[in-house]
Amino acid sequence: MLTKANHYLQEYFGYDQFRQGQEEVIGYILDKKNTLAIMPTGSGKSLCYQIPGLTLPGTAVIISPLISLMKDQVDALQTLGVKASYINSSLSTAEQNERLQQLREQAYDFIFIAPERFDSNFFVHAIESIPLSFIAFDEAHCISQWGHDFRPSYRSVVQTVLSLRNKPTLVGLTATATEDVQLDIKQLLEVDDTNVVNTGFLRENLSFYIIKGQDRLKYIDRYIKNHQNEAGIIYAATRKQVDQLYQHFYKEGIPVQKYHAGLSEAERKEAQDVFIHEDIGLMIATNAFGMGIDKSNVRFVMHYALPKNIEAYYQEAGRAGRDGDPSDCILLFSGQDIVLQKYLIEQSDLEENKKTQEYQKLQAMVNYCHTDRCLQAYILDYFNDKIDVQDCGKCSNCIDDAAKVEKTKEAQMILSCVKRMGESFGAAMTAKVLKGSRDKKLLSFGFDRLTTYGLLKDQTEKEIVQFIHYLIAENYLSPGEGRFPILRLQPRALEVLKGTEKVWLKVEKVATREAEDYHVELFEALRRLRKKMADDQGVPPYVLFGDRTLKEMAK
Ligand code: ADP
Ligand code: MG
Ligand code: ZN
Repeated sequence: MLTKANHYLQEYFGYDQFRQGQEEVIGYILDKKNTLAIMPTGSGKSLCYQIPGLTLPGTAVIISPLISLMKDQVDALQTLGVKASYINSSLSTAEQNERLQQLREQAYDFIFIAPERFDSNFFVHAIESIPLSFIAFDEAHCISQWGHDFRPSYRSVVQTVLSLRNKPTLVGLTATATEDVQLDIKQLLEVDDTNVVNTGFLRENLSFYIIKGQDRLKYIDRYIKNHQNEAGIIYAATRKQVDQLYQHFYKEGIPVQKYHAGLSEAERKEAQDVFIHEDIGLMIATNAFGMGIDKSNVRFVMHYALPKNIEAYYQEAGRAGRDGDPSDCILLFSGQDIVLQKYLIEQSDLEENKKTQEYQKLQAMVNYCHTDRCLQAYILDYFNDKIDVQDCGKCSNCIDDAAKVEKTKEAQMILSCVKRMGESFGAAMTAKVLKGSRDKKLLSFGFDRLTTYGLLKDQTEKEIVQFIHYLIAENYLSPGEGRFPILRLQPRALEVLKGTEKVWLKVEKVATREAEDYHVELFEALRRLRKKMADDQGVPPYVLFGDRTLKEMAK
């Protein structure tokens, strides 16, 4: 059976090999064992039910709380030539009946179902009357009352499923599960310990940052400017906050979408579709956005406000970097946020002991913002991850420890280079001079005769650019106002050049993963154009240009 699974992996999905955990989960399901898979966001849980669904006879029932994503999932399978469909409230009654009929005729290998369908006897009878390969609960933490996203309707499905006459193998899949939640799911879905696959929670490509004591909006502005050719999500606490941030970026000419429960379903769907299908752009959202969304190239997730607990935080932050490339998870912390979160718990209609528990979870979240431990290690500890937790070396705490280094000399080299180049060039050209590049433009200006030429030849241009960005962030340099960002010395820089001020690398302030520097200038110019058109004619940033085409052009 497993060789068949390997065959499907390559033939249908075009992947060379399984990722960690996948083969094991697939193996258990093929062996008809009830199975629980706990694997991080983006690790490929879907494949764990897709392949058994193709391999085993009968229909696979996939229960998911994410109605808005079912169509995409089904479309993706249909493109691969798989017989799949979905039934949920977005369909008319006639359509639902038609699909129900197809289901009874065993026309599908996969049927995706919203939990509510199980309230219908018609539906339950239909699946009782056909051979089933297995029933999978996607986002299985939603069935546990200890889960941070508990849905009562989801739990009652479990009862119905357990009493089915033709009860098949049961599968639970989730990315976030504390020990309580794991235990709960295991009991509910009757999973043996030996059939639990837990690949741990580590996401090596994510860098975590806590930013405090800064103007949040200014921080974000600066960050976004350096990451304009990327896609990212900003989570805010309230609808009002989402609207405000949206307006702010919209006016700045940044391609931006918003998502919260106050918008109509059509508006939300459109915002989600645009965000998913464009390569770059911002999504400003409340926590209503994102569960199960498979957008692989989200490069950063920022939290403009404190999440209610670590589970929620890790799940939201974990939407960054599903493709495995380096990505940033930035939490902008302000002490006032604690008050709001406490208020929300107080106002909720939870039972007293549940409230106490929520307070404790909030406290762990607050501790995360104050700890000086490695942030990744803190999170893994919280989930009781069994792997040996080591410092990640790239979160704001790790860097802060490692990098309280003096960089005065290097800063002097850069600043004097900027000066000698006449304060007329951007970061990229300055870095080339310091690197000692043979760039034609550089040579035509005679910059290879500068005393600063090649002074930093041991570093990569990227590293030099990164340090220049740091000097900008720390107000030693200004990026200038002209059509292209041109570096100019700030008063502080003169102190450094005179030797009366030292430069320390306090990396905590800047997320270190710099955007690929290429064509930052182009993006900057486009942003200004969008801004102007938006101001003049009220044209939404996205309508103005298809950004993907632009990125192609830029290459
Ligand atoms: P999640 O675990 O969050 O549900 P998904 O199932 O949505 O993750 O998968 C995330 C991404 O990983 C998808 O784009 C998927 O195509 C890809 N993927 C899954 N398995 C593999 C594999 N074995 N090799 C390469 N890519 C994979
Ligand atoms: Mg998933
Ligand atoms: Zn760390």
